[in-house]
Amino acid sequence: MKNFSLYLFALVLCVGLLPVVPRVFPVEDGGDAEVLHLLRTATGEIAEVPLEDYVIGVLTAAGYPCDGEALKATAVCIRSGARYCETHRPTHRDAAACDDPTCCAPFTLESFDESAVEAAAETRGQTLTYEGETVPATTFASGGKKTASAKAVYGTDFPCLRGVENTVEADEPPTKTVRVAADDLPKLLGAPDGSTADGLFLAKEPSGRVAEVTFGLGGTWRLDGADAAARLGLPSCFFEAETDGTWVTVRCEGEGDGVGLSRRGAQKLAETGKTYAEILQFYFPGGEIRQTTE
Ligand SMILES: [Zn+2]
Repeated sequence: MKNFSLYLFALVLCVGLLPVVPRVFPVEDGGDAEVLHLLRTATGEIAEVPLEDYVIGVLTAAGYPCDGEALKATAVCIRSGARYCETHRPTHRDAAACDDPTCCAPFTLESFDESAVEAAAETRGQTLTYEGETVPATTFASGGKKTASAKAVYGTDFPCLRGVENTVEADEPPTKTVRVAADDLPKLLGAPDGSTADGLFLAKEPSGRVAEVTFGLGGTWRLDGADAAARLGLPSCFFEAETDGTWVTVRCEGEGDGVGLSRRGAQKLAETGKTYAEILQFYFPGGEIRQTTE
């Protein structure tokens, strides 16, 4: 971005003068930059943030450990997800996203990472679409052998989000291994004292991620796979459990929900010479990059 120093200066100035980060743009194009409606959770105010600022702000705040073509692919995903949320408002009624990082993506508008600015500038205005519709192109940190479908994880089917063979990460070792005394496992999973871990069973969705855990005689206790992963301190639902009667060993792969683009996978693909368009095609088969804004 040619005028980035001016742009950054304008941003810092506005941030310094006003209590919440308001509409800080446009500087370059005279008023018609596409904006994202953003809920400020502290005040309930809806701020209008230029979409390209938001893309850079998410990339900066997240500090993803990827660069080059992988970061460009991630930038297109963030822009696509933001545009989808601006149109469909799946999380907030009056805003595309909010500033609570436990609810929506973390972002910052206070300082921008140079690599984030470059990745956004080099893909500026580009959105992933399927048959003309914006794809909610989610990303996650790292995957197992297969990415998950949006339907399995969120209950909503999208043509480009049905899961792919994640060959590029297939040989990765487990991300985390947890060993728990079999007698302690029921309590850890929320069952009352005296419950037994007998009959421990992991029901899996097609990508191999755990959808539900059952245990106890006759499958008395059931809990959601994501809930079980959180209680066991696991970074994803991609886990296996083995028991010798005394101990239960749980091995987990990947990090995140497994839907969409794996950022570690994207980095590996970039290292083999793939372009960001090819990386997006790998994780979102059938998706098309469209120049939706200037
Ligand atoms: Zn939110």
